[in-house]
Amino acid sequence: MPTLTRTKQIPVIGEYDVVVCGGGPAGFVSAIAAARCGARTALIERYGFLGGMATAGNVAPVTEFMHQGELVVGGIPLEFVRCLEAKGQGTMCPPRGNFVCHPEGYKLEAQRMVREAGVSLFLHAYVSDCIVEDGVITHVIMESKSGAQALKAGYVIDATGDGDVAAMAGVPMLDYQCPLQPSTMYFILGNVKTEMIRGYYPGQPGSSMKHVRERLNELSKTQDVPQFGGPWCMAGMGEGIAIVNMSRMAMDWTDEVQATEAECRLREDIDKLVKLLRENFEEFSDATLLSTATQVGIRETRHIKGVHVLTGDEYKAAHFFEDSIARCSHPIDIHSDKDNSQICIYLDKAAYLPYRSIIAEGFPNLLVPSRCFSADREAFASARVQAGVMGLGQAAGAAAAMCCEDGRSVKDADIQRLRETLIAWGAYLAEAD
Ligand SMILES: Cc1cc2nc3c(=O)[nH]c(=O)nc-3n(C[C@H](O)[C@H](O)[C@H](O)COP(=O)(O)OP(=O)(O)OC[C@H]3O[C@@H](n4cnc5c(N)ncnc54)[C@H](O)[C@@H]3O)c2cc1C
Repeated sequence: MPTLTRTKQIPVIGEYDVVVCGGGPAGFVSAIAAARCGARTALIERYGFLGGMATAGNVAPVTEFMHQGELVVGGIPLEFVRCLEAKGQGTMCPPRGNFVCHPEGYKLEAQRMVREAGVSLFLHAYVSDCIVEDGVITHVIMESKSGAQALKAGYVIDATGDGDVAAMAGVPMLDYQCPLQPSTMYFILGNVKTEMIRGYYPGQPGSSMKHVRERLNELSKTQDVPQFGGPWCMAGMGEGIAIVNMSRMAMDWTDEVQATEAECRLREDIDKLVKLLRENFEEFSDATLLSTATQVGIRETRHIKGVHVLTGDEYKAAHFFEDSIARCSHPIDIHSDKDNSQICIYLDKAAYLPYRSIIAEGFPNLLVPSRCFSADREAFASARVQAGVMGLGQAAGAAAAMCCEDGRSVKDADIQRLRETLIAWGAYLAEAD
């Protein structure tokens, strides 16, 4: 393949203690945490809004804050969903503490909390490169309508979901030796007979649509039915409105050609799926497609090789680590890349997530709290969800700010002080019986 070399002068437009790359659930919570600890914090997001998969991907369920009716995720993540709840933007449903949220409410509340914390927000800015000296990331480079610009960084939090900064910096990645979990483009329907849709989460409107799955499986023997998963349907957004998680495609989002193909194919698939829903199911007989998500929903891409790789065995045993910084109780939830099957292992206790799984050997100012943190396939398949990565983000933001204050590398972070701070914020980090 031909290559070219280009040299370019890039203006350094700011200097920050902590630069957070990516404003999804992990990133916006990281930024709030760092700023609340007194760090000069910047948050760079490629879209014009925050929320990542929750908003750009329309992933309305924020799961899970409870285990058997007891809160296990607290602090800033809980504060966020309680704020939404107080504004009528969703309800926390025991016993698992699932929260279904309207993406617009999510965007607004995330942006308000970030700005109130004093974070410098850069929207419509794509992190395209970083400057690394002996493992230290000195600058993050972003591209926007203003051209290429750099931010000088004390500490960098990679919350791009895909480990973009970590990959650019040369952090080694794990190879699971098996296919990635498939992607899904969510869509929103209007004119749905939502009164016919049974509760998916207790106390909340929505349906697991088992009858739809069975009928489509039957239809697929005689006609063209695009690959689908679930389906799951959330109907709490307003009269006749339903958010549907149904389309499915195996692909690698970090490959530009495959990403383009997925956006195009899944939009075609949704066109066919909506017709099938209208033709075969009374609740959808008058349904109209209101929108497809801004981007394909991505479950999985890269995984960094951290100082510790959290394993499924540690996870299922709820192993307590001295450096536990977050909890997660979502089931181990592995979607098949080939068909509409799913492995779902419910946990006996909420798992603990260690600090060492968000840092990498030899990278003294980088933290990676988002879905690309260091875990094996099983542990990842639970902790990837929003409450899990928000908890990691909260810890990463606080840790980065503290390391900055103490002049320490992330590997030498004061874990006792970090845990005390997180517990003071309301995180449930004590060792369970
Ligand atoms: C189909 C599907 C169903 C799901 N179901 C659930 C569920 O039921 N419950 C649940 O809690 N979770 C669910 N999830 C998982 C959850 O949505 C994600 O794992 C979670 O959003 C991960 O958060 P994150 O912040 O790590 O990454 P993301 O949400 O991916 O956020 C990354 C952010 O970084 C930005 N970004 C990326 N690259 C760059 C760059 N180079 N420069 C600037 N910005 C960048 C993105 O725009 C985005 O805002 C589901 C996901 C999918 C796809």
